[in-house]
Amino acid sequence: MTNASTPILGIDLGTTYSLVAVLQNGAPTILPNALGARLTPSAVSIDDDGAVLIGAAALARAITHPEATALAFKRDMGTERAYSLAGRTLTPRDLSALVLRSLREDAEAALGHPFSEAVVTVPAYFGDAQRQTTRDAGAIAGLKVDRIINEPTAAALAYGLHRRERECKLAVLDLGGGTFDVTILEIIEGCIEVLASAGDARLGGEDFVDSLLAPILLELQREAGSEQPRRAIARARAACEAAKCRLSAESEVQIVVPGLELAGGRRFDLVRTIEREQAERLWRPLLERISDPIFRALRDARLRFEQLDEVLLVGGATRMPCVVELATRLFGRLPQRDLPPDEAVAMGAAVQAGLKANDASVEELIATDVAPFTLGIASSNRLGSRLVTGIFSPILERGTVIPASRVERFTTVDENQTQIVVAVYQGEHASCDRNQLLGKYTVCGIPRSPPGEEAIDIRFSYDLNGILEVETTIVSTGHRATTVIEERPGKLRPEQVKDALAALQRLKFHPRDSLPNRTALARAEARFVDLTGEERRVLGEMIASFRLALEGQEPSSIAEARERLNALTEALRQA
Ligand code: AMP
Repeated sequence: MTNASTPILGIDLGTTYSLVAVLQNGAPTILPNALGARLTPSAVSIDDDGAVLIGAAALARAITHPEATALAFKRDMGTERAYSLAGRTLTPRDLSALVLRSLREDAEAALGHPFSEAVVTVPAYFGDAQRQTTRDAGAIAGLKVDRIINEPTAAALAYGLHRRERECKLAVLDLGGGTFDVTILEIIEGCIEVLASAGDARLGGEDFVDSLLAPILLELQREAGSEQPRRAIARARAACEAAKCRLSAESEVQIVVPGLELAGGRRFDLVRTIEREQAERLWRPLLERISDPIFRALRDARLRFEQLDEVLLVGGATRMPCVVELATRLFGRLPQRDLPPDEAVAMGAAVQAGLKANDASVEELIATDVAPFTLGIASSNRLGSRLVTGIFSPILERGTVIPASRVERFTTVDENQTQIVVAVYQGEHASCDRNQLLGKYTVCGIPRSPPGEEAIDIRFSYDLNGILEVETTIVSTGHRATTVIEERPGKLRPEQVKDALAALQRLKFHPRDSLPNRTALARAEARFVDLTGEERRVLGEMIASFRLALEGQEPSSIAEARERLNALTEALRQA
């Protein structure tokens, strides 16, 4: 049991931004990072001196040093992709561990005591491997992550929906940087039940940026005749990201990137005006993709739009007016947007963390969830003389409310077959080779009999943390065997966690109190790249005088020079 005096962190580990929160006096509170900001970019960069930078400074370096910087690695969680940053190889798990570690340190600095446990949110569509990798990343960051909850479920907790007295059904639409989730929830007498969840793991605010960028890249290609250097693309992309956000409040914006260094050493001044209507035409295919999972989730929940009482919008990208309009049109009601859309999930994680720590300030809640993927085994079938193998036989269907336990009976296919291989897959395809293998084991001791005579019951039990237990029973002998699927792709053994932890500790980090200085410099350098003429000269001088102040090591003059540099960088950003 966790003592209420050692609270558990609630962490939203986002594709673009991450947040950390705790429950204080019954209210979820977002904790600031070393720069005083509530949102920490999920960005990692290796600095020129080999030290690791996380957050805003790393994000700024995506412009000046794209080859040393990793962004949006949450999209690759659970895969073997290796990010090569300035000669170092880091996996999505390592990169996530670095972000989690920095959030833990921020929380510790804000509250003055250590933390060793966290509730971390993941998209509803994350599969087993991704959830397990998230847990492992937590362990490497020095945080025990017992409880992983779906982001939309966390959002509902943040809105306090579990405290509603009246029964109600609602949809949570969560459009973040890289993922889109739709969850249909039902609240009855203080319990939240997830009726269905659907989503698109490859659709988010980033895609809206890519749509703005695509015609610009074509234009650059026409200018320079071939593919552009990464640095030019990174600069153009950053300008599109800013334009997209400004378009949420303005009907027309300008994209200006002077002196883009194109292929073949050509320089190009990018100047483009874009109207909201024009952007929305570019975004139409993405908006259609938003509708698909909404229809699917409602179908799975066997509900019609008009049967829903509420619609919640969360995720930074729901600030886009076209997304609000789409939701209003589909559901025939104005969605709730009272909480900052990028903070609601972290707040909900803190509520869940409070529940877990038995904080008396939160009422008891029984939350059920649904299996995001169908789970089943590979089976074989004899068609005449041919044995067809690798058929996916579902046992626990996608959308099943969990915790759940389901059993299916299978029979032997061969004469005197004494063993079967139970290969567990997740996915939605009829053929196993298109689904993901989670684990494999052999059941022996089947009595020798003619084909089809021996029956084997296979039971899948799936719990709220995504742990799958497989139990096989040979019906004629009653012999039973139980396995927890351990061989999940990406799962680390304890000694591997230890090794990864040691590798992380070998990395060099900037001292926390130097981060505001390092970030100011990285941001100014990123701005410097964009400028020309007099503005560039003035910023260059200011950067030089800040470096001088840093060398002087006199805290008050460093702080003064930093404030001046930050003010100028910000002024030039808006220019
Ligand atoms: P999240 O993962 O919830 O932090 O959402 C991040 C996404 O929200 C990114 O793609 C941001 O560009 C996007 N976003 C944040 N603020 C705005 C805004 N004002 N307008 C449009 N998109 C935004």
